Amino acid sequence: MKAPPFRLTIIHPCVGRRVGQRGYIRTWKMEPLPAATIAALTPPDVERRFYDDRLEPIPFDEPTDLVAISVETYTARRAYQIASEYRRRRVPVVMGGFHAALCPDEVARYADAVVIGEAEELFPRMLDDWRHGRGSHVYRAESRPRSLRVAPDRSIFRGKRYLPIRLVETARGCRFACEFCAITAVFTATQVRAPIERVLTEVRALKRPGQLFFFIDDNIVSDLAGAKELFRALAGEGIRWVGQASSTVACDEECLALMRACGCQGLLIGFESLGAEQLGQMNKGWNLARGGPSAAMATLRRHGIRVYGTFIFGYDHDDAAAFARSVNFARDEGMFIAAFNHLTPFPGTPLYTRLEAEGRLRFPAWWLDPAYRYGMVPFIPRGMPVEELEQRCSAARRAFYGWDSIFARAQARVNRHDPWMLLNFLAINAMHRADVVGRNHLPLGDAAWTGELLRVS
Ligand code: SF4
Repeated sequence: MKAPPFRLTIIHPCVGRRVGQRGYIRTWKMEPLPAATIAALTPPDVERRFYDDRLEPIPFDEPTDLVAISVETYTARRAYQIASEYRRRRVPVVMGGFHAALCPDEVARYADAVVIGEAEELFPRMLDDWRHGRGSHVYRAESRPRSLRVAPDRSIFRGKRYLPIRLVETARGCRFACEFCAITAVFTATQVRAPIERVLTEVRALKRPGQLFFFIDDNIVSDLAGAKELFRALAGEGIRWVGQASSTVACDEECLALMRACGCQGLLIGFESLGAEQLGQMNKGWNLARGGPSAAMATLRRHGIRVYGTFIFGYDHDDAAAFARSVNFARDEGMFIAAFNHLTPFPGTPLYTRLEAEGRLRFPAWWLDPAYRYGMVPFIPRGMPVEELEQRCSAARRAFYGWDSIFARAQARVNRHDPWMLLNFLAINAMHRADVVGRNHLPLGDAAWTGELLRVS
């Protein structure tokens, strides 16, 4: 008799949920590409299901043979809750993702198998072992893949309501070494690129009239030569896209012209701070190169590229004036959108190690602490009390997403000259305005969950 097919359930955990909360933070409802990559790495004779914890209830009692969860630091607590539900039902759980690379020992305590490293290298071997009854507890990659050859299988997203933006990854990792950055801690300041043909195939398959793409690369210009080759190949595809880049992109006019020519509408750029001491401490002094943020913004505007600026507060030289300076800068420079967050020490980063050595961590493992809430400052800042840092970050968001600021920024030529992007500007700013309150002090994990986190014995 033929054996029944092996059943794999892929879960994308949410960050958290309040008791009785309906719906989820709208701006966080993007397609989860790691789940689609796992789906693509699953052989066709394995029966697959996918549940997105942000959008739908998880049917814990549905029969399955193995559960796979990609874990980030913010979703770790919820991932362990989900794993406990399955493991209590005697279903083995495998976990991988960023947090597994940052905190392998912790993840290994809550999972029957942990994949430390990139799924492309390890997931097929792990799955083969587990379906044939020889599964191990730890799978660790010896090196990074040479290239990102596997295209995500997006068929698992069918019927789920994500934000109407298609995510594509053209490269992973970044050559810089910012002190707080978990990405560079995991990928040790290296970048791996996808073959250009693969990117073109994906883009062509996903292209629709009015479709906006998000190239989710950590820093799309980390390897300038590789990036320019990609932009040349994308010219003529007739797409519109946004991406993430270091401010160094503003120093290369050829690159900006190529980006614009292949449909770049905007970039997320980590300006982080306007202070030289702060940037020095975060190992990001290069943000001040060639005239610094103002000159970079002027160059980007000249090339018609909109900017999503991100700012961080809580470095040792930050005082009360730093917030207004950054908000005014973001508004006056006509940023499309912006983020104003307190510094967060992710485990495994040099920042975490430094704050730990200085005895400044308020919650040693904030991502697991039941008392911790999204938006709480998990360390002791030097320039102001914890509460003031939290309140000033909230106030900065409220000021930036106030209607007066939205209308002032809508006047910037770069934001208004294309009616389609102006409509996007208004919709996206309104969405962020609503979410300023919605995610503040969100619990990590499902607050209504009453079980015990089940550890591997
Ligand atoms: S430039 Fe961005 S992605 Fe690169 S190390 Fe710095 S924060 Fe991380």
